[in-house]
Amino acid sequence: WAKAAGGATYSFYDGPVAQRVQRRHRLNVLLRQALERGEFHLHYQPRLDIRTGHVTGWEALLRWNQPTEGNISPAEFIPVAEESGLILEIGDWVLRQAVAQQASWIGQGLCPGTMAVNLSPRQFRMPNLSRQIAEILALHAVEPESLELEITETALMEDVSSAREILSEISRMGVKLAIDDFGTGHSSLNYLRDFPFDRLKIDRSFVICLGHDSQQEAIAQAIIVLAHALNLSVVAEGVETESQLQYLGANQCDEIQGFLFSRPLPPAECERLLRDRQDIATMPHTRASCR
Ligand code: C2E
Ligand code: MG
Ligand code: MG
Ligand code: MG
Repeated sequence: WAKAAGGATYSFYDGPVAQRVQRRHRLNVLLRQALERGEFHLHYQPRLDIRTGHVTGWEALLRWNQPTEGNISPAEFIPVAEESGLILEIGDWVLRQAVAQQASWIGQGLCPGTMAVNLSPRQFRMPNLSRQIAEILALHAVEPESLELEITETALMEDVSSAREILSEISRMGVKLAIDDFGTGHSSLNYLRDFPFDRLKIDRSFVICLGHDSQQEAIAQAIIVLAHALNLSVVAEGVETESQLQYLGANQCDEIQGFLFSRPLPPAECERLLRDRQDIATMPHTRASCR
């Protein structure tokens, strides 16, 4: 297979496949040190109620600033960590960090809403996941209802019956569950019925098409109707334009997330945003509570 279709010849040692293998190997080595050396941090992207514009919650997104390589995208390193199993330690760190952040915001009198954390398939298969979550919540005295876990369809596929059991356990604790990137994986509509999800996140690939591709629009509309019929609230990810926002509002989408309102932000900027908005929320005649 040394000869590529274009006629160029690659040797095993420097072809694109080998380069990818080497890059993954290198990332693996670097990832092992990243936790101990404190190279990870979290950014948080707000989620907004489409009707009121209020911040309803945040999604914690992992950031890796590697001293020699610079910023490496989670889209690149999460799969590597998933493959090596290191995701278990990294995922535990993310959960702890996000819940601690939530506790700190609540302690400052801010109303952050729910904190959503992405769970990888491998974490999801840990037998003691719900115990780990309960322990972290108790440690920071955070209500289970203010934590949300985002899970993709792929994570559910591997072992459907144990997945259902784990999710039910977590859901009974009061922790919220969201199905992430909906519409991109092997979407089985049964998942929506059989798993105790609270929220569905429509993948960005559908949002991008709003206003351009009537077939993708039809699917997005149908997803919203279906989700509501099954008692799930709907978030659109990756909202970048006013016209997408308008389209989603007209089609009863509940919440939005995306660069149109805000990129994922470092904690200090999140706090500023919460404070600015809180001024409005605590004016007379508006509800002063966090909910
Ligand atoms: P995701 O969970 O679907 O997260 C949404 C991604 O879309 C984030 O990319 C976010 O920065 C990006 N995004 C949000 N709004 C917009 C927008 O308007 N336009 C565009 N172009 N992008 C937008 P990010 O932070 O690079 O994360 C990529 C993926 O990496 C995440 O997709 C998630 O699957 C994974 N990931 C990130 N952090 C974690 C983590 O702590 N644990 C696990 N297991 N996975 C994570
Ligand atoms: Mg997510
Ligand atoms: Mg997503
Ligand atoms: Mg996505």
